[in-house]
Amino acid sequence: MARLWMAAMALAALAGLAGLIALADRLATRFYLAEAHDRAASTLRLTVSALDGHLARFQVLPALLADDARLRATLSPPADPDRIAATNRWLEETTGTAQSSDIYVMRADGLTVAASNHARPDSFVGQNFAFRPYFTQAMAGGRGEFYALGTTSGVRGYYYSAPVRGTDGRIAGVVAVKVGLDDIEAGWRDRGYHILVTDPQGVVFLSSEPAWLYSGLLPLTPDRLAASRAVRRYADRPLGELAVDRRQEQGEALIALTGAEGAQEYLELTQTMPQAGWTVHVLQDTAYLRGQARLAVAAFVLLLGVALSVGLILWQRRARLAERIALQTAAQAELEARVAARTADLARVNAQLEREIAGHRATESALRRTQRDLVQAGKLAALGQMSAALSHEINQPLAAARNYADSAMILIDRGDTARARENVGQILSLIDRMATIARHLRHVARKPDQPLQDLSLPAVLDEALTIVRPRLDQAQARLTIDLPAGLPAVRGGAVRLSQVLVNVLTNAADAVQDLPRRDISVTARIEGDHVVLSVADTGPGVPAAIAERIFDPFFTTKRVGAGLGLGLSISYNILKDFGGDLRLATAPGGGAEFQLWLRPSAPAAMAAQ
Ligand code: ADP
Repeated sequence: MARLWMAAMALAALAGLAGLIALADRLATRFYLAEAHDRAASTLRLTVSALDGHLARFQVLPALLADDARLRATLSPPADPDRIAATNRWLEETTGTAQSSDIYVMRADGLTVAASNHARPDSFVGQNFAFRPYFTQAMAGGRGEFYALGTTSGVRGYYYSAPVRGTDGRIAGVVAVKVGLDDIEAGWRDRGYHILVTDPQGVVFLSSEPAWLYSGLLPLTPDRLAASRAVRRYADRPLGELAVDRRQEQGEALIALTGAEGAQEYLELTQTMPQAGWTVHVLQDTAYLRGQARLAVAAFVLLLGVALSVGLILWQRRARLAERIALQTAAQAELEARVAARTADLARVNAQLEREIAGHRATESALRRTQRDLVQAGKLAALGQMSAALSHEINQPLAAARNYADSAMILIDRGDTARARENVGQILSLIDRMATIARHLRHVARKPDQPLQDLSLPAVLDEALTIVRPRLDQAQARLTIDLPAGLPAVRGGAVRLSQVLVNVLTNAADAVQDLPRRDISVTARIEGDHVVLSVADTGPGVPAAIAERIFDPFFTTKRVGAGLGLGLSISYNILKDFGGDLRLATAPGGGAEFQLWLRPSAPAAMAAQ
C-alpha cells in the first residue's frame, strides 16, 4: 500500500516536473521569440527606410531631365547622329553624377534612341521598351514607375520615367532612369537573418538568399503568372515555387521554407511599401532561437535540480538534526526522570534513615536511661539482698569478735597475754573485714555522678599495683605487664578504675595461689573503638556452669570469710558507668582472663593510629 502510494507520488512528481519543464520551455521560447521579434522589427524598419530612401533619390530625376532642351531636340525629327552622340555623352555624365544605373531616352514608339550605356555591348540603344508599364504610363502623360529584371542586361532595377514633350507640347518620347538594386541586396547578406522583397504576385524579387530569388512565396496561380508575363517583369526567367508552410506560435508568425537542405523555420516580419507595391520580409531562423530556449530550459532544469538537491540535503539534514534533538531531548528527559526518581528514592531512604537514626538515638538514649536505671535498681536490689547477707556477714564477725574479746579478757585476767594478744589480733582482722565490707558497700550504693576524665592506663595500673602488690607477693604470683607504647588515654574515673584493677588482680592472685604455675599477665590492645586491658592468669579458670553468675553480687566460690562476692559485680557496674564492659574469657593456658573494655578519650587519635 505504502509502495503504491510512493509510486503514485513519484509519478505525480514526474508529471509535475514535465509540466514545469514544458512551461519553462514555452516561456523561454516566448521570450526568445519576442526578443527576435524586436530585433527583426527594427531590421525591417531600417531596411524599408533604406529602400525608400534609395528609390526616392531618383524619383524626380526623369521629370527634371525631360525638361531639358537637349532631350527635346534629340527626339525631334529628323534624327541627327551628332546630336544623339552628344546626348549619349550627356546622359553618361549625368548617370555618373546621379549614381543611377542607366538613363535612356525612347521615342514615342518605344525605340531607344539615346542611352547612358550607349558604349556598352548590351546598350539599350535600339531596344524597344514599349511593353514596359513605365513607358506606357509616361506616354499617357504621367510619371512611370516599375521594377523588373532588365531584358537586355539581366540586371534588376527600379525604373522611373517621365514624358518628354516636344516644342509643340505633344509627348515626343519618354526618358527613363533605372535604379540598380544589386548593391542594396548585397548589403543584406550574412547578417544573421534573411531579408527578401516580394512583388504583389508574391514572387521574390530581392533576396539575401540567392536560392529563393524568382520563386513564389504565394502559389503561382495562372492569373499571377499572366500578370508577370504581361509586363515581362522577369524577362524570360522561369519562376520557381517555394514550399511554404505558415503558422502562428505564441502570437508570432512563423514560416517554414523547404529548400535543398530540408525545411527551415523562420520568424517572419513583413511590411509593405505601398508605392513600389513591395512587401519586405525579414526572416529570423528559429532553430537558433529554439536552441537558446532549450539551453535556457536546460539551465533552468539544472538549477532546479541543484535547488532540489540542495533543498533535499537541507531537508534531510534538518530532519536528521530534528531527530537527533528529539532523541537527545528524550534521553535527557529520561535521564532527568531517572535522576528525579532516584533523587526521590534517595530522599525517601534518607528521610527513613533519618527517622530510623532518630528512632535509634531515642531507643539508645532510652536504653541508656533504662540501663542506668537498671544498674541503679540492680544496686538497690543488691542492697536489699545485701541487708540479709550483711546481717550474716557482720553479725558473724561481731559475734566472733565478741567471743574473742570475752576470752581475751579472761586470758588477760589469767595473765596469759600471749594468747590474749592472739585473740585481739583475731578481733582486729574481723574489724578489718567488716571495714572492707563497709567500703565496698559505699561504692555499690552510690550513683556514679563524678565526671569522667582521660586516664593514662599505665598510671592507673601503677596506682592499683601499689595497693595489690602485697597480696600478689603473698600469693607468690609472677606478674608480667606488657602495655604497647602509644596507648591512648581512656575515659573513666581514676579511683574507680584502680579499684576494678585491684579486684581483678586480687582474684587472679587468689586463683593462682598454691598452684605450681602462678603467672599473671597484664596486656592491652586496641580492638575496634575500644581499648581492651586483659588480666590473664594460669589459675583453674571459671567453670562454664558458673561463668554466667560470677558478676552477680555476693556470688563467690571462696570459702566463707575469704570472699564477699561483690568484687566482680561492682567492677562490672563501674565499667558500665564508663561506657565500657567487663568480660570473661579463657586465657591461652586455660586460666581465667578478665577483659576491661574501655573507651579511648579521643576516637580521632585512635583512627590516626
Ligand atoms: P570474691 O572474690 O569475693 O569471691 P568476686 O565477685 O570477686 O567475689 O568473685 C566471684 C567469683 O568469681 C569468685 O568466687 C570465683 O569463683 C570467681 N573468680 C573470680 N576471679 C577468678 C579467677 N581469676 N579465677 C577463677 N575464678 C575466679
